[in-house]
Amino acid sequence: MAKLSSRVGRIDASGIRKVFDLAKSLKDPINLSIGQPDFAVPGEVKQAAIAAINAGKNTYTQTQGIPELRDLLLVDEAAYHGRRYGTEEILITSGVSGGLFLALCALVDDGDEVIIPDPYFVMYKHLVRLFGGVPVYLDTYDTGFAPAADRLENLITPRTKLLLLNSPANPTGRILARDHLRALAAVSAKHGLAVISDEIYRGFAYVDCPSMAEFLPDALVLGGHSKTYAMTGWRLGYACGPKDLIQAMTKVQQYSFVCAPSIAQYAALACPQVDLKPNLDAYRAKRDLIAGLLAPAYELAPPDGAFYLWAKAPRGLSGDELVTQAIARNLLIIPGSVFSERASHFRICYTVPDDKLRAGAEVLLALAKG
Ligand code: PMP
Repeated sequence: MAKLSSRVGRIDASGIRKVFDLAKSLKDPINLSIGQPDFAVPGEVKQAAIAAINAGKNTYTQTQGIPELRDLLLVDEAAYHGRRYGTEEILITSGVSGGLFLALCALVDDGDEVIIPDPYFVMYKHLVRLFGGVPVYLDTYDTGFAPAADRLENLITPRTKLLLLNSPANPTGRILARDHLRALAAVSAKHGLAVISDEIYRGFAYVDCPSMAEFLPDALVLGGHSKTYAMTGWRLGYACGPKDLIQAMTKVQQYSFVCAPSIAQYAALACPQVDLKPNLDAYRAKRDLIAGLLAPAYELAPPDGAFYLWAKAPRGLSGDELVTQAIARNLLIIPGSVFSERASHFRICYTVPDDKLRAGAEVLLALAKG
């Protein structure tokens, strides 16, 4: 048996995987655990991928990504939030996961503190630890799951390097409003913190969804195609931000991912042809359905975006206890402890057919009664 690095010993297998392993023991469960869309990759994008393969676009691309896609995304970003990035301020990555990996590798030194609003996307704390950093949690349970700027300021020490934001957020569905982002940007700028803004769920916003780029031009904005175009397996995303950081990330990409998948990059050139509204409308309706069904029995924060519902376990149960009881009734949900230093909540992903959603709600309503 090889002696493994201490680095890899700092992380453990994602709690979500443990739930998926449990799921294998269930026959045809009501599965509200998987964080991906249930619609197909749009036809235009599939056709563009097939055409790319047939046209021989199967080789390595430039490390930074193909120029056509970078140009397209630069125009999209400027239209979205007004920040005009130069051609050296964008890098095409292997999903937002790839972008997070490169960014944290490029930014975090041993002992650096990284402030992460809690609840958080599972990957954040593990990647921070992998690179020797120390996650510092900014509790948001009593501030409507939006990180408070004064609380951020109180957590800052001489070792604080970075703030890792996510809006629309997984698992809460919270979208940070303009005033909120402005206040967080002001504190970050005052203390010289780097900011990573994971905006992967921008395509699923049921209210106005500003970008951190509007308030902090030096923020590193991460975007991706996985969720918006249901391309989770194609591994495509991008990072926009200051030239020196993008250059450092590009250097690491050169010796790791090499480039984002060529076929996915060419296929993404067809994304502007896709009408996203029907999917957005469908998920807004699902959000209304599940929030409406559960609201009488559960304490929940109605989501503004993404496709998750975050609710408190009933009857003084922990999220983990509720999940055990749900699994006994063939329902799969994720315990909040996977996404948080607290264990009081649970997460539902509502990207399933309405009958499944209703069936899941029925189980949860029964469990709330005890
Ligand atoms: N950030 C958040 C908040 C996510 O929920 C996910 C996927 N679950 C990712 C990043 C990673 O997405 P991908 O690597 O597929 O782009």
